[in-house]
Amino acid sequence: MTATVWLGRLGGVRVGVHWSVLGIVAILVTLLAFARWPRLLPGYSAGAYLLAGVVAAALFVVSLLAHELAHALVAKRNGLEVDHIVLWLLGGVAQLRGEARTPGIELRVAGVGPLVSLVAGVVFGALALAAGAADVDLLVTAVLSYLALINVILAVFNLIPAAPLDGGRILRAALWAWRGDRHRATVWSARAGRVFGFLLIGYGAVQLLVGTFGGGLWAILIGLFVVNVATAEERQAELGAALAGLRVRDVMTSNPDTVDGDVAVSEFLREVALVRRHSAFPILDPAGRFQGMVTLNRLRSVRPQDRDATLLRDVACPPGEVPLAEPDEPITGLLARMDGCTDGRALVFDEDRLAGIVTPSDISRMVTLHGLGTGWRSGADLTTPESNPWAPRR
Ligand SMILES: [Zn+2]
Repeated sequence: MTATVWLGRLGGVRVGVHWSVLGIVAILVTLLAFARWPRLLPGYSAGAYLLAGVVAAALFVVSLLAHELAHALVAKRNGLEVDHIVLWLLGGVAQLRGEARTPGIELRVAGVGPLVSLVAGVVFGALALAAGAADVDLLVTAVLSYLALINVILAVFNLIPAAPLDGGRILRAALWAWRGDRHRATVWSARAGRVFGFLLIGYGAVQLLVGTFGGGLWAILIGLFVVNVATAEERQAELGAALAGLRVRDVMTSNPDTVDGDVAVSEFLREVALVRRHSAFPILDPAGRFQGMVTLNRLRSVRPQDRDATLLRDVACPPGEVPLAEPDEPITGLLARMDGCTDGRALVFDEDRLAGIVTPSDISRMVTLHGLGTGWRSGADLTTPESNPWAPRR
C-alpha cells in the first residue's frame, strides 16, 4: 500500500494516508450522524450530528494511527527497520523491513498494537463515564462512548489468531518459540489466516442475504483481503523453508552455454536455440567479457523478416539489468532480485568468471526436492548442503 499523501514523520517514522481512508470516515459519519445518533439521541440539529460524526471519525483515525505507531516504534526499538505507516480503507499498515530475529521480538511488535487500542478504549470509556457523571452534553458522551467501543473492537478483532492480523503474528511467535522453526510457524499462521478469511466471507454472504447489507459487504471485503495476504505469506514461507540454508552455488546450473553477441538472430535460432535445450543464454565477447543475456522470449519481439539483420546483442538484456549473484550468498537473498528483463533468471559470477545460471526451474526443482522430505523439521535435513545427498557439491 503506497500513500497518496505523506503527512510527515512521527517518532522518526514516515506516516502517510491512502485516499481510501476517506472511505472509513465516510462510513463512520454516515453510520453515526445519519442513522445511529438521530435514532438514539433525538432533538439535535443535523449540523450537530454531522459535527459529532466527523469528530468521532477523525479521532478513530487518530486511534488507528496510535495502534500502527506502537507497532512501528517497538519494532524500531528491537532493531527492525521501519519503512513507513500508511492508513487506508481497511485499517493501517506498519511496513517493516526484514524479519524479527526472535519469537520474543515478534510477540512484542505484534502485541503492542492491540494493547494500545485496548488502553485507548479504556481511556475513552473512563472519559465517557466522567462526562456522563458531569452532565456534559449527551452527544459529547456519545462520541466518547463510541470511541471506547470501537477501540476495544479494534483490539479484539486484531487479536484473532490468523495472519496477517496481529493475533496471527502472535500465533506465529508462539509456534516459532515452541517448535523452533520460523518458516513452519509462518505457514501455519497463514493457513489459519486463510481459514478465518473464508469464514469471514461466508459470514458476509449470509449477512448480505438476511442481515445488514453494509455489514455483509464489509466482512466480505476484509475476508478477501485476509485470504489474499495469507495465501501470499504462505507461499513465501514455503519457498523460504525449502531454500533455507542453501547458497546460490547449491541451486545454480554450472557452466551455462554462452553465445556470441555478434551473431544474427536467424543464425542463432537455427544453430543454437534449436539444438541446445535452454531458453536463456549469457552473452560473452571473444575475450570472455560479459555483455548481457538473451532469452527466447525477448527474440519474439524481432519480426521474421528482420532476423537476418538483427544481432543478438541488439535484443539482449543489457548487463546492468541482469540480476547477478555470488556463489556463496544465500539463495533467499537472490530471490527478491530475480525479476526484470531476464524472465526470472540470474547469473552467478565467481570473481570475474561466469560460474552458473539460476533459473525458475532450478528453484522449483529445489522446492520439489524439499517437498519429498515433508514434516515439521525434517525438511531442513534434506536441503542443507552438508546433509543433502542430491545437492550439488563442489
Ligand atoms: Zn496491529
